[in-house]
Amino acid sequence: MALTGLEIYKQLPKTNCKDCGFPTCLAFAMKMAAGQTSLDKCPHVSDEAKANLDSASRPPIQLVTIGTGDNEVKVGNETQLFRHEEKFYRPAAVAVRISDSLDDEALAGRAEAIGKLIFERVGTQIRVNLVAVCNESGDAAQFEKAAKLAAEKSGLACVLISASADNLGKAAAALSGQRPLLYISDPAQAEAAAAVAKDNGCPLAVKADGVEALAELTAKIVAAGVEEIVLDAGTRGLKATLESLTTIRRAALKGHRPLGYPTIAFTASDDPTSQAVEASSYVAKYAGVLVTDAAEPWQILPVLTTRQDIYIDPQKPVAVEPKLYAVGEVGAESPLLVTTNFSLSYYSVEGEVEASRVPAYILSVDTEGTSVLTAWASDKFNSETISQAMKTAGVEDKLSHRKVVIPGFVAVLSAGVEDESGWSVQIGPKEASGLPSYLKNQWQA
Ligand code: SF4
Repeated sequence: MALTGLEIYKQLPKTNCKDCGFPTCLAFAMKMAAGQTSLDKCPHVSDEAKANLDSASRPPIQLVTIGTGDNEVKVGNETQLFRHEEKFYRPAAVAVRISDSLDDEALAGRAEAIGKLIFERVGTQIRVNLVAVCNESGDAAQFEKAAKLAAEKSGLACVLISASADNLGKAAAALSGQRPLLYISDPAQAEAAAAVAKDNGCPLAVKADGVEALAELTAKIVAAGVEEIVLDAGTRGLKATLESLTTIRRAALKGHRPLGYPTIAFTASDDPTSQAVEASSYVAKYAGVLVTDAAEPWQILPVLTTRQDIYIDPQKPVAVEPKLYAVGEVGAESPLLVTTNFSLSYYSVEGEVEASRVPAYILSVDTEGTSVLTAWASDKFNSETISQAMKTAGVEDKLSHRKVVIPGFVAVLSAGVEDESGWSVQIGPKEASGLPSYLKNQWQA
């Protein structure tokens, strides 16, 4: 848990010497508690106090790094149980499973497809992060070959899953320098796997039979010299897994060090739809790494969408730059559509305009990133702000007509916009999904 200013102050020399740039030790402690300075700015703190503060100020959930370079994913370092209390920081790494029992051609094809699970949503690229290679064959050479092929064909960092510490060691050595996450599925081999993880400089995921057994196991793994640990309480199925993920997160945030690590969750259903539901649920609460068989785009997109929505800052609306956007080969006769600068509103409109193949201007009005109805209710989307945005964007110089389309939900603004701007107002559809039909059948310059 984060330390309070007073807890930090107790460990400081209390001489108020000002060498840290602050007038008193208390002022320094308060700034440090707020994360605005660091302990190394005080040259007089004792080694004992430093050790105490270092250990007490360690994040409640260990940061774990998987992969390297462009493929690097970091999980952990979370500080909240409930997102609205601050935010969640490190999006769950999504891994799609691949068996080493597949023949080379099938394995390479699946790995390539996994590497292409990339989507564009609200102006951001969202994608699968990892390929999880499962040692179902039990054979070391086959596992090693599959790990190399999966990493090469997917272009992603790996999770290596095996019940054998020896097999993990061989596959990890084959991916030397790529920092895969090693997952040992046999608790009896966890300490041997810790030695492998240490030798190869890899993080280690351990499985145990329940949360209590897991807490006992992590102490042994740390003693073996591995600090970057990922936890699996061995539960499978939606209810039991959500319970164990929640129990581990709650205990970690209360300062229970043996459970202060990110978690890994596996989808267990054979049903393709249920896999997507399970995966989305674990991403929401509280998996650090998710492993799933769901590899179809229709299964993965909702998982990645859930992750994107959960890991944005709830205090900051996601906004696009408020300005005039041109979609397609616009001309002087093109329609002018008005919306707000809430990302989801803007990109919904943009997507439907693209789908309609009718080139159009979209004027995104600055509503501080709020949606059409929210902005209208808070008087940020009104006849003045719309008319002013039209002037600022210089729409008069770009268009030969004088017609502006406002969202159907704010039809009530039409008279005000006409008075304020001098343009004729047309009422568009309430939902962006109605735009293609509107633009093709109703819009006239
Ligand atoms: Fe206190 Fe250290 Fe700052 Fe001096 S340098 S005022 S001892 S915190």
